Amino acid sequence: MPDTNDDIKKLLTDVQRYLKEEQELFGDYIYTESTMPPKKQAGKPEAQQPSKPPLEQDLFGSTAPPAKPGKIAEQHTPYPNEPWVKSSTLDELNSMICNCTKCSLGHTRTKFVFGVGNPNADIVIVGEAPGADEDAQGEPFVGRAGQLLNKILEAINFKREEVYICNILKCRPPGNRDPQPEEVEACIPHLWKQIEIIKPKLILCLGRISAQMLLKTNASLGDMRGKVHDYRGIKMMVTYHPAALLRNPNWKKPTWEDVQKFRKMYDEMKQQP
Ligand code: SF4
Repeated sequence: MPDTNDDIKKLLTDVQRYLKEEQELFGDYIYTESTMPPKKQAGKPEAQQPSKPPLEQDLFGSTAPPAKPGKIAEQHTPYPNEPWVKSSTLDELNSMICNCTKCSLGHTRTKFVFGVGNPNADIVIVGEAPGADEDAQGEPFVGRAGQLLNKILEAINFKREEVYICNILKCRPPGNRDPQPEEVEACIPHLWKQIEIIKPKLILCLGRISAQMLLKTNASLGDMRGKVHDYRGIKMMVTYHPAALLRNPNWKKPTWEDVQKFRKMYDEMKQQP
């Protein structure tokens, strides 16, 4: 039993972290022992998987079969009536929105974080919002989570420069708090325009909050990952945010399942005439 204020504070911090991780995985529903999904039986043989290079093993450990495909449709919403909607290149769009103050984050950011990568990419990777490193440097996914994202991409034979990487929000929420609905509503049309200009074949969405914002759902990450969604007419898959993997390495294995499936979908798409 804790017997000092420091012990109690530490216990509360541990409980909060545990609940946040459970919420990340299962959504707002609290699972009890009797409602937990059945665990895999000990001694049951794993499905045979092809051997992997050392980097992949180092990153993700062993693999398991992917989940069955599914679909959550996203309704198209019209653009706001603003001048940048007519921009035809990423550079033009960036220059037209980089001083945006449509929500309060425009007054607290250090740098506007538009996006980075190949303007003709087949793949767009979408995260939630810039963090402290991104806010300081003006580029998405440059901190520890960004380095892990680079390794994940490398493990499925993509280079960072080959894809396009951006966030739903272009400015950092103070203290890395979750984005507010009004901030998402103000900023998400910028992402639509980026996607419209790039015309990617596939989107990989990172993290539960990003996926909930894009798909307009309260579904848990467990419900959204392992499926192929439709985002504004483009196939999209959802997996863990690299920052979540840094907090909980147990999620590397399901992430590996997701990105393998994503790579397979990309390869199949490229083979189509
Ligand atoms: S977060 Fe988006 S809407 Fe808000 S100020 Fe930044 S660019 Fe504008």
